[in-house]
Amino acid sequence: MKTLKIKNSTEEISIGKIVCVGRNYAEHAKELGNEVPEKPVVFLKPTSAIIFSGDGIKYPPFSEEMHHEVELVLLIGNKIKDASLEDSEKAITGYGVGLDMTLRDVQSKLKSKGHPWTIAKCFDTSAVISEFVFKDDYTLTLDEEIFLTVNDEERQRDKLNKMIFKPAELVQYLSSLMTLDEGDLIFTGTPKGVGKVNKGDVIKAGIEGLVELTTKVI
Ligand code: MG
Repeated sequence: MKTLKIKNSTEEISIGKIVCVGRNYAEHAKELGNEVPEKPVVFLKPTSAIIFSGDGIKYPPFSEEMHHEVELVLLIGNKIKDASLEDSEKAITGYGVGLDMTLRDVQSKLKSKGHPWTIAKCFDTSAVISEFVFKDDYTLTLDEEIFLTVNDEERQRDKLNKMIFKPAELVQYLSSLMTLDEGDLIFTGTPKGVGKVNKGDVIKAGIEGLVELTTKVI
């Protein structure tokens, strides 16, 4: 069982499933040659993929093109299914920043065959997360900027309000597909600027004024 840490708190929360959304920023969808979806694109990561700020990302031997994707991560605080928009908003109990590390070369081959993306998304260390902040302690306005640097060079920076589907809308849609439980994490998609990382790279990412993480590719 993996647990996440809450900023300025001794509380630890057991992590449930990890539900990820793809193509939730129009400019990112375009940079990979994808159409902007009418509904969120949804996939899962296993909890075995999770590491924390300060840990290292391991390059799997079956890829030569691992990409960084920085994302706002939502923490679900109570069980919901087929929730209203209002109940979906209430079910979001905290926020963090995460990296959805992606094997782009593997994903491109899978996409061309119409196969699931799992192998490109599920490897150990492919989900890096920060500490989380409870919603009671911070009101997210979506005017915040999300950013990522590689070796102190900025690669991604955008306002969260560029998300096509906003947090409560995502949670509502996901709750129509599956039960969401306390401790589940929702990765909400990445803005434009994704790119390859190499062994030895130091990645820093965050949401201005809220949370940050640091990791190294090893
Ligand atoms: Mg992603």
